[in-house]
Amino acid sequence: MPIHLDDLDVISEVEGLSSALIVPCNMCPAITVSVKEKQPFMQFFRSFLKSAPFERHIRALQSRLREKGVNTEVFKSNLYHQWFLCMWTSGRRKKLQEHAKRYEAVIVLGCDSATETVRDSVKPIDSKVIEGMEIAGFMNANLRFHWPCDVSFEDCKIVPISRKKENEEMSG
Ligand code: SF4
Repeated sequence: MPIHLDDLDVISEVEGLSSALIVPCNMCPAITVSVKEKQPFMQFFRSFLKSAPFERHIRALQSRLREKGVNTEVFKSNLYHQWFLCMWTSGRRKKLQEHAKRYEAVIVLGCDSATETVRDSVKPIDSKVIEGMEIAGFMNANLRFHWPCDVSFEDCKIVPISRKKENEEMSG
């Protein structure tokens, strides 16, 4: 049950900064970008355990930031169990904290829970945390496999997260 996300205006948030560390969650954001671009989420034979649309999305963000004088690096999570920021180990959080010391801010690409993980990790060093995405809703999609080994999410619908609240409001 991935979460569908929308991009937030990061550029206005980096005003006056010269460096930032981008911390992407590799699951829901990567699925979201692949759905928006109507591209496979993963093509195992072309880019093993990497989502090409999301990689391009991050590179485009880095390029826009560079134009504004902000140098960035991506805090990469190459191992599958590191993909989900909402379930990071304490060791991973500590590693982010150490890495973030070299930057003026961290930019989170993920949901509120991803931001919480990053905030928690960098709290001791008082780093500025910038949210790069916001939740649009739950994603409902058909998981499809295409030859030779492509994984796609198709016929995507966005289901409001606050449906309970909406129903309550409608009933009265
Ligand atoms: S941190 Fe949020 S965006 Fe990332 S996998 Fe967990 S729920 Fe999805």
